[in-house]
Amino acid sequence: MQIQSPSLVVSIHDVAPSTQATVQEMIDDLKKSGVSCCSLLVIPHYHEKELLTTAPAFVTWLQEKQKEGHEIVLHGWSHLRPAALHERLWTRWMTQHYTRGEGEFYDLRYDEARAKLKLGKAELETAGFDVQKISGFIAPAWLLSKEAERAVVDENFFYTTRLHGVIDLRKKPPGFYRSQSMVYSVSSGWRRQVSLIWNEFLFRCAEQREWPLLRLGLHPPDWKFCQIRKHALAAVSRAVMKRSVMTYFQWMQEGA
Ligand SMILES: [Zn+2]
Repeated sequence: MQIQSPSLVVSIHDVAPSTQATVQEMIDDLKKSGVSCCSLLVIPHYHEKELLTTAPAFVTWLQEKQKEGHEIVLHGWSHLRPAALHERLWTRWMTQHYTRGEGEFYDLRYDEARAKLKLGKAELETAGFDVQKISGFIAPAWLLSKEAERAVVDENFFYTTRLHGVIDLRKKPPGFYRSQSMVYSVSSGWRRQVSLIWNEFLFRCAEQREWPLLRLGLHPPDWKFCQIRKHALAAVSRAVMKRSVMTYFQWMQEGA
């Protein structure tokens, strides 16, 4: 990949009607810290309760965000992965403990994944979005089975991301660009403390080793915790002094 200049991509996960107010607050805070565009990871049928087409005020808001320069990325269908009856210990740990039952694409077969991708695109289209302009698919918790990745290619998405990197699906085989994302875990006090140390470490690695791409993945619950919010905003304020802010779509256009 030919990278023009060091870049920063901030993504906001789990964008849905029930998180709209918090996401707007995050966008406002990020803007004050120098980040004027983000990749917004939208869930079309959040927790099987919130369909885009039944939330017109949310859709209007999301269309405004798109016009302001934010990117819409498909982020699963419902975000949920129901537990199967007889799962291996590792699968159960990954899906129930690590993702709390939200790793929707973790072990989907090709046909299951493709059906969910089609549903997601149809919902976005019916809500009034031009799906040709939606070029990214990012799986809940970045967990995407190999078969599901093939379905993402066949549904004409041209990139996806994982925790450790960005994948250019236009290439055969897909091109992997290594860049570990900063991401906070906020579900308990000790996780938040470890997260602050880990993300500061990652941030410093990115600065000292001059990573061409710095990624920050944020979730709406992060904004409930003052220390996490402060850390994320301080990190982007420092990053924008040296890096160009862009969405994943723009990064793929420039960098790939
Ligand atoms: Zn998510």
